[in-house]
Order: sequence, then C-alpha cells, then structure tokens
Amino acid sequence: MDLYDIAIVGGGPAGLFGAYYAGLRGMRTKIIDALPTLGGQLATLYPEKYIYDMPGFPKVLAKDLAVGFTEQAMQYNPAVCLEERVETLASDGEVVTLTTDRSIHHAKSALITAGVGAFQPKTLTAPGVQELEDRGVSYYVRDKAAYAGQRVLVVGGGDSALDWAITLADEAASVTLAHRRDAFRAHEETVRAMVGHPNIALRAFHEVRAVHGADRVEAVTLFHNQTGVEETFACDAVLLFLGFSADLGPIKRWGLNIERNSVTVNDRMETNLPRVFAAGDVTWHDGKLKLIATGVGEAAVAVNFAKAAIDPKALVFPGHSSEINCPTKAIKV
Ligand code: FAD
Repeated sequence: MDLYDIAIVGGGPAGLFGAYYAGLRGMRTKIIDALPTLGGQLATLYPEKYIYDMPGFPKVLAKDLAVGFTEQAMQYNPAVCLEERVETLASDGEVVTLTTDRSIHHAKSALITAGVGAFQPKTLTAPGVQELEDRGVSYYVRDKAAYAGQRVLVVGGGDSALDWAITLADEAASVTLAHRRDAFRAHEETVRAMVGHPNIALRAFHEVRAVHGADRVEAVTLFHNQTGVEETFACDAVLLFLGFSADLGPIKRWGLNIERNSVTVNDRMETNLPRVFAAGDVTWHDGKLKLIATGVGEAAVAVNFAKAAIDPKALVFPGHSSEINCPTKAIKV
C-alpha cells in the first residue's frame, strides 16, 4: 500500500494552500481533483475577473492568483491526480481510503477541500447543445484569444455572462447576448456597460431554440419567449453562463455530518470521521464565511492538526515560515 501522510480532495485555493502547509510540515501529500486543472473556482469559473479582497493584493486576476496558489503548493512536489472524482472515503482511524473513478488512494489523514462539490455547469436541452459541446458550445472561457474574429452568442443574465460579453466584444466579430428576461443579476455598472456597448446585440426575452452545425457550431436559432418569433443567424461560438449546480454529490454518502449542505467541522477543522479534516467552501461552522481568505486560513489550521494527529510528537504550531528553510534554499545548500 502506497501510504501518503495526507490526501487532499480538491485543488482549489483551500486545497492548494493546504498542500503548501503539508509540504512545509514535511508531509507526503497527494492532491486529487475532478477537474482537468488546479485552481478550483478561480481557474474554472471566473479566471478573468479581478479579486479585491486577497490579503496583500489590492487587486489580482483570479487566474493569476490560481497560478500563485499552485506554484506555492508545488514547491514541495505533492502528487497531483487530476480528472479523478473521489467517489468514496472511509477512515479506520489510522488509514483513510479514497476511491476514485480511476484508482484507490491511501493516506494517514485526509483534507476535504471540495468547495461546492465537483460542480457541473447548468446546460440547456435545446437540440445541438449537447452534441456540439467543446465544438463551439462551452461553459467556460479558457482563452479569450480563441474568440477573436468569431461571431459569439453569450447566453445568461448574471455577472459571468455580462462580463464575458463585454470582454469578448472588443475582439470578437460580433457578440449577441441572449437572456430570458429583461432584468439582469449583474453589477449595475456591468449592466450599463453592456447595454451601451456598440458591439453587443442584446436579445432580452430570448432563449435558445437550437444550435446548428455538422462538426462545429455554424448557426443558432433563438426564440422570443413572449411572442414566439424565431430568429436564426450564423454563429461560431455559443457560451452558456447559466450557473452551476452546487451539489456535494458523493461526499454526502461518506458518513460525514452535514449541515446547510456543507461538512460540519470543529475549531480544529476536524470532521466527525477520525483523521478526516475539511476546509474552505465545503465546510460549515459557527461564523462561517465562504471566502478565499477564510478558506485558506482554515486549511492551515486543518493541516497542522492533521500533522499532530498522525505524528503525536509533532507540535501543532508549525513555526514561522520565514524562519524555516524554504525548499529552494534547501536545494541550494
Ligand atoms: P473550490 O475553489 O470550489 O475548489 C474545490 C475543488 O474541489 C474543485 O476544483 C472541484 O473540482 C474539486 N472537487 C469537488 N468535489 C470533488 C470530488 N468528489 N473529487 C475530486 N475533486 C473534487 N471569494 C473571495 O474571497 N473573493 C472574491 O472576490 C470572490 N469572487 C468570486 C466570484 C465568483 C464569480 C465566484 C463563483 C466565486 C467567488 N469567490 C470569491 C468565492 C471563492 O472563489 C471561493 O470561496 C473559493 O474558490 C473556495 O475555495 P475552495 O478551495 O474551498 O473550493
């Protein structure tokens, strides 16, 4: 059995910062994430948005922060298993066993930093949507340069939809924004910028009837949901920003105490299962705030208590990182 010191379920900010701290404490660490990339919500849901409430950063792009978290975590070379969704987790008090859709992992402790779960973007049932996924139909913008010169349909009425419509409008050939209502759930300033934008054609009260194309998206049909009038136009890319379903999925079946759709933890970030800790958006405790700044603090607490749990001689307090040799220094010596 290849026994790690700690297995971390979820490679978002909390999981990555937990991996950094585990490395600092000399723990052999493995991160498992269902997504193809590390960074959690930062990298997947809003990479191009600025974050203004990270300590020490007056303003930082989410994707840059994700890179920083990842670099910090990778200093200690944790094992990283991507595109593996943890389906089961069981603890006998000494060994935590995690099974994924690909393999079985063993560790002396576990940290659950699964955010809102292995989230799924909401989709549409209109013909062509599922068939043309990743061939023009997308739920994320991974590289905005890919939309240069394209005719883009953005669907949705929240911040993501409007932000992306505005961001892409500068370089796309055209942007059409379709929303099923005429009220938007986005920031007032964003709505103002979108409504007045010369390269955004707004279609309020419009929904997608069908997406057309043989190998890639070629056209879309919208319909007015009050008059029924249809409109078909040439299109290269359809971006759906309809929100995400937030379900803990398999985590609810691991025997953890769950409250408010989150894993209950105590002050040490311990769950009710022995040697199983949790941190970040996935947790619930009195005073909980689901923010990056609080989630990474929780991860630091969890990992240091995990260290003491698997090594009773170890202190919980890690010392100050500024007084501990960093890995780079260690390599130079
Ligand atoms: P996540 O970032 O959600 O990462 C969890 C990871 O766990 C994911 O990668 C997921 O794939 C993985 N996972 C889940 N279940 C499994 C499983 N069973 N097996 C394997 N992997 C699994 N917060 C701020 O503090 N400031 C902001 O300005 C801010 N702006 C935001 C803007 C938007 C549009 C959104 C959506 C959120 C924003 N947030 C902001 C919230 C912030 O992104 C979250 O608090 C933060 O990402 C939580 O980090 P996390 O590590 O707990 O979880």
